[in-house]
Formats: sequence, C-alpha cells, structure tokens
Amino acid sequence: MTSIHTTCPYCGVGCGVIARATEDGWSIKGDPDHPANRGRLCVKGSALAETIALDGRLLHPMVGGARTDWGTALDRVADGFGAAIAEHGPDSVAFYVSGQLLTEDYYVANKLMKGFIGSANIDTNSRLCMSSTVAGHIRAFGSDTVPGCYDDIELADLVVLVGSNAAWCHPVIFQRLLAEKTRRPDLRIVVIDPRRTATAECADLHLAIRPGSDAVLFTGLLAYLKGEEAEVECGVALERVVTFFDWFASTEKVVTLWSQGINQSSSGTDKVDAIINCHLETGRIGRPGMGPLSLTGQPNAMGGREVGGLANMLAAHMGFDDGSIDRVGRFWGAPNMAAKPGLKAVDLFGAVADGRIKALWVMATNPAVSLPEADLVRKAIMTCPFVVVSDCEADTDTTRLAHVRLPALAWGEKDGTVTNSERRISRQRPFLPPPGEARADWRIISEVAGRMGFAGSFAYSSPADIFAEHCRLTAFENGGTRDLDLAGLIAADYRTLEPIQWPVRAPGEGTERLFGDGRFFHADGNARQVEIAPRPPALQPSPDFPLILNTGRSRDQWHTMTRTGRSPILAAHAPEPTLSVHPDDAARLGLADNGLARVSGIRSNGVFRVVLDGGQRPGEVFAPIHWTDRTASNAVVGGLMDAATDPVSGQPELKHAPVRVEPFTAAWHGVLLGRDSVGLPRDIYWARAAGRHHSVWRLAGETGEDWPSTARSWLGGDGEWIEFLDPHRGHYRAARLVDGRLEGVLFIFRWATDFSPDWVAQAFGHAAIDGDERATLVAGAPPGGDRGRDKTICSCFGVGLAAIRTAIRDHRLTSVAEIGTLLKAGTNCGSCVPELRVVLAEAVRHS
Ligand code: SF4
Repeated sequence: MTSIHTTCPYCGVGCGVIARATEDGWSIKGDPDHPANRGRLCVKGSALAETIALDGRLLHPMVGGARTDWGTALDRVADGFGAAIAEHGPDSVAFYVSGQLLTEDYYVANKLMKGFIGSANIDTNSRLCMSSTVAGHIRAFGSDTVPGCYDDIELADLVVLVGSNAAWCHPVIFQRLLAEKTRRPDLRIVVIDPRRTATAECADLHLAIRPGSDAVLFTGLLAYLKGEEAEVECGVALERVVTFFDWFASTEKVVTLWSQGINQSSSGTDKVDAIINCHLETGRIGRPGMGPLSLTGQPNAMGGREVGGLANMLAAHMGFDDGSIDRVGRFWGAPNMAAKPGLKAVDLFGAVADGRIKALWVMATNPAVSLPEADLVRKAIMTCPFVVVSDCEADTDTTRLAHVRLPALAWGEKDGTVTNSERRISRQRPFLPPPGEARADWRIISEVAGRMGFAGSFAYSSPADIFAEHCRLTAFENGGTRDLDLAGLIAADYRTLEPIQWPVRAPGEGTERLFGDGRFFHADGNARQVEIAPRPPALQPSPDFPLILNTGRSRDQWHTMTRTGRSPILAAHAPEPTLSVHPDDAARLGLADNGLARVSGIRSNGVFRVVLDGGQRPGEVFAPIHWTDRTASNAVVGGLMDAATDPVSGQPELKHAPVRVEPFTAAWHGVLLGRDSVGLPRDIYWARAAGRHHSVWRLAGETGEDWPSTARSWLGGDGEWIEFLDPHRGHYRAARLVDGRLEGVLFIFRWATDFSPDWVAQAFGHAAIDGDERATLVAGAPPGGDRGRDKTICSCFGVGLAAIRTAIRDHRLTSVAEIGTLLKAGTNCGSCVPELRVVLAEAVRHS
C-alpha cells in the first residue's frame, strides 16, 4: 500500500488527494483525476502531511479523567443516556455532531437518535455554516438541492460572489475561476462583500455594501429584472449598483456563489432566496454556466444534510411529515420514531443551560469555542449532568468538559464517504492504521446502540454496509419524488467507488445539474419565488458598542486549529489572532499597527493583534474565528457574538456583533520559544503558533515582572541557564538548556516589536548546542542578520512581503508569473496568488 486516493478533510470544495508513502512518512498531492480540483490543492491541503502526527491525540477511552477500557466506557455512555431517557424521556438527551463526520458516521448517529431513542435532538455544527441555504433551497425548490456544479463557474460569463472570500475559504474553486479569467478576460467577476478581501482584489467590480444589506441589493436586482422601480440603499454608489444590475440583466450565463457571509445572518434564509429569486426570474438555473451555487464550509456538510443530521430534517432529505415518518420507520424497523423536529444548535445548548438536556454527546466538534455566546455555552456544558465527547484530539476546549472521552479516528485513518458543495460523493480512504485504541465513529455509536438494546439494527460490520443501507433508504419508495436518490450506488463496489454527483438513479449515471427542465420538487412541480422584506441585523451599534465586528477565516487555518495548528508552514501566515481595523478608526481609537487591542462585546472580551487594513469599511472591524483557549490567552471570537438566529433556519448571526475597541496598553512584550507546553497565566496576552521542533508564544503584559523568576516558572527551573538583563531598557533574554539541548528561550522587551528569533528556532533542531551557538541564543539578533519579522505571503516556500516588494522594485516585475519565476512564490498551491496581485498593484500605485 503506497498510494491511496482519498479526499481533503477541510473545506467544502472536496478536493481529491493522493497520499503516497515516502521514506520520511507521507506525501500529499492533489489528485489529477478528481473532478473537483483536477490536481490542485490549496496550502491547507498541501500541508496535510504535517498534521498527521500522533502528539495531542486522544488514544484511549477516559471516564472521569482516568483511562479505562472500551467496554467500561461504552457501558457508561449507554447507562448515562439510558438513565436520562428512562427518567426524563427521549427529549432529555441530545447529540451535537459535525461536518467533519463521514456520511456513514452521520447516518448511524441520526438513525439511533431519530429512530430508536425517539427524539430528533441531533443537530450539527453545519447549523452554524449553511443551514440558511438548506432552508432557502427548500422554500424555493421544495428540496435541499444544489442545482449546478463547479464546471458552471468556468462556463459562466459573469460570476457573482456574495459573502464569500473564496480566495481564502474555498481556494481551489477560486483558482479555477482565476485560471478561466486568465484564459478568457471577458469573463466578469463581481464581488459583494463589506470588506475588500483577497477575493475582491481580483474582481472587475467590488460592491462594498453595508453589512447585512445583501437582501436589499438582490430584491433591488429582482425588481430591475422585472422592469419595476426599486430603491437600493445598501451603502454603495448608485452607479456601481446599476453597473452590477446591467451586467446581471444582460448576461445569460451567470453563476452566483455564496457562502457564510450570506448564511450566518438573522435573515440568512431570506438572503438566500433573494439570490435564488433572481435566477428563477431569468430562468438561469440548472443549465451549463448558470445558476445559484452555495459553497459549504465543511468537508461533509452536504453528507450530513443528506442523512438528516440537521434536527429539522428526518433522513435522506425527508422531513417530519406523517408519510416520511412512517416510511423511514418501516425502513429502519424503528420502535421509537421521532415525531417532530428537534432542537437546533443554539436552542439545543440553551436547553443544556436550563437543565432540559440531561445527557449530551458531542462528536468531532468544539462548541465551547465555535458557538455564539461561547462563554455561556461552556458554562452550560459544565452544568450538564452527563457529557460525552468523541474526538480525535485529547485536549480541546470541549473535551476538557466531558465526563467520558472516546478516542475517534482522524483523517488518514477514517474510511467512508463525503459529499462536496456540488453534490459529489467521494471516498475518504484510510492510509494510516488506527492509533492506540481509537475507533471509527460509526462503530462507537453502533456499540452504544447495541448496549441500549438495539443491537439487531446496528449490526454493521463495515462502512460499506452503512453506505449501502443509506443508498437503499434514499431510493425507498422514491419514484422520482425526492431529489436525493442513490439507487444506482446500492450495489456499487465501495472499495473502488469513483467520485460521482447525486442523484444516481442508475449505476454509473451521476447528475451534473438539476432543474434545467423546469421541474422542481414542490408538489406542483414548480419553483417558488419567495417574497422577501429585507431586514437589518438583529443588533445595531450603540454608544457603548459603536463598531461592528465581522468574522471569518484566515487563509491558512481551519476552524479551531486542532489540525492546521500543528503545521509550522500554516502557522507562518498569521501566527496571532488579528483584528483588522481601518486606518482612520485606528487613528481615532489610538490603535497602532502591530499593537494590541481589547475588543469588548456585550458578554465577553478578547485581546487581538491590530492589523491596519484600508479594505475595511470605517466603523467595522474583522477578526478570524480560529483561536481557542489552547492557542491564545483570550481570543475566542464566538464569545463576542450574540446568539440571535434566523427564524427559519436557526442559523446564528456570526458575522455581525456590536463591539467596543480600545488599546491594550502593555508594559512589556515578549517572545517565548519552548519545546513543551508552558504554563502561561491568563492575565497576560499570549498566542501560540507551531514551530518545527517547538512552539512559539508571542506575549505582552500590563504589569512588570521579576523576569528571572518568571522565566523559571514558565520554562521550568532545572537545567543550565544563560541570561542577559538590561534593567534600564527593560530587556531580558534567557535560554534554558538540559544536557546541552535547548529547551526554551524567552525574550522580553519594553516596546512592541516584530522581533522574530528564527536563528534560535533552528537551534531547537540541534541535538546539542555548541559554544559558538550558545553565545547567539541571547544575543538579541542573529549573527550579522536582520532580526525583523517579515509577514509570510507564500507559505509553501516561506516567501515574505519584504522580499516580494524588493524583487518587484529591483527587477521591475509586472506580473504574478514573474514573481513566481524569480521567488517561486505562488507556484505551488497558488493560495497566495490573490495576495501577490495586491502587493503588485500596491507597488505599481507607489512607483
Ligand atoms: Fe482542501 Fe484546500 Fe481543496 Fe478546500 S480547497 S478541499 S481546504 S485542498
């Protein structure tokens, strides 16, 4: 076994990858035969091999903090859930699952809860990601159907991206779009986003609309398409709006892409339907090069939708109507069918907080960080009488709260299927053995089901068994009435299954597009244009909280960084939690570029590194979502967000929160490099990033310290110490060695600095430090070198901003291709190409 075809575990693009055994471990490359990416990978996919080490993994079952055997742990879970159900009924228990689960895992969890426990209290973190799209699809089409496919993006003459920074969040889709734009410059790109993102930098037209006014824009477009009068006040000059309307109206082949910027809103479902209305009005749907196309955030958000992982869906794209409940109950032979929808994520954790949920099982997700009002969610989980977490990671903000921890398989070990944003089912195949005692999620759930008395219905011996049952359910009494039909995969060879788009009604016959024939899944066969009355976000700025916080993803990190946070390559691009601020706001608020800011929301606060960004609208700031209490002292963005939800989808408004921003005035700043985890207090600022043989912590504090003794408490007391103290300038530098090997280094300054001790980082790779090298450890600068930190632009080749600017100036470079030829930047995964274009454009402006 030296070469395995599998699928990337990050975003909803669903790129195919090939894992190959090498002398040093594994290499990960894009699969040239996979239709989603045709060999491409973004930087996250390219760095997958850096994330598969076993450090930090949960390898054994744990009950009450102590290692135990599987039998004991599974008995404890079954007893805990059984006792709650017996005493308080089936609705007193809940599963909170994840778009990281494979379809087979999802299917078994959903079947246990909705058919055998008898409640629909199973919801997924996809609720936070794209449930507004599900609701919007169902209202418009009568089914949760993505009409088109990725090829449409390349076939279109106009591509509109709304609330989507695809350049960073769905990079391979964006690379495909840019490649087509290069080949066909007449292809127009419109980006609708309050921020001037890397995606917007590549657009022919960027509409920096007022946050939350997307539905105003698209209802205005609909009126324009119908020839009606429309008022379109969305914070953008009228002529730019009219240009967009003209382009949309006059171009037959239009694809509209959207993502969390639309979905994560208290009116997300309306926004989705406002977009779809324009495509229905023009008939531009389900035909080559045209249609509305939502980009899902997670690798298997779609698979979760398919099996019924959302609390308001039953199974196989069926809802809670009597006919569907009866049909699914007969198919499963289920004794306790849920009769009504369950609690959606925000309400589910509300029920945990008020004591209605007595037993909670969290699978492969981290709600203590990712949900809005995260501090309250954390407290709610702490008060829940019985909490089970199955995860591949030992120590997350949520596993810390569990009574029972169950070790699950991670990417590279899992075996199953996922579905990407274009309805394409692909196999995830294992190329690594199960580590420790870790088990597949479907197996863990099935064994608990068996202990709860349902062994006969959960006697699966492989994921192939489960997939076949899932396919049979989709086809059961379908007769063309339901969009999801996998009849043609029931007898497929699971081992060799090739990527294919559903519905698959006959063997080998996938479906690129739906609705091109004008037939939809409402009872009358027609689609619906949903009437939309746009409304603003739930909370508006106030004198106490005068700014709007927007949130999203960094280019090189994924969710709560449990995997991507292990990669030094990925850490280089943004090693700290940042807050992007318009320069005018920064000047008004007294914030310095690269200084620190305290952000206060209605319920919580956090400290972030300031990045001045002229692409922000004044009055609005932006922070990435990735940092947790494991990776930063206080930067959980979920805690700053309000739990207002969309009334139809239940999706929380994670893109819009009123906040106050003030300078965090530090008395000292520092950098710490350590081989092991160090015990840093929460009352200072710190953020941790992965290094090759160590971790790097960036530090700051409001009060001074006794540095020699503080260094020993942070780095460990024994061993040999090399120290330098300049009390007048407030500088302190120290290195700790044990048996000649470097164990930790601490640098303290009185002022903020972009100091980067790269030469010391290299010393962590040495078995022993010799005399000359010892002298450099606390020198404060590399031998004869520049000690400044250069912002990394190209993570693959470690090329920084200063080097790129110098090359453009000295060599008079005029294109990204020329930069690539000279520096290699942008020539591997291409994720940094949009940023290279920005640097190039700035250089031209300033030349
Ligand atoms: Fe993975 Fe990147 Fe492809 Fe998304 S675009 S699936 S993160 S390689």
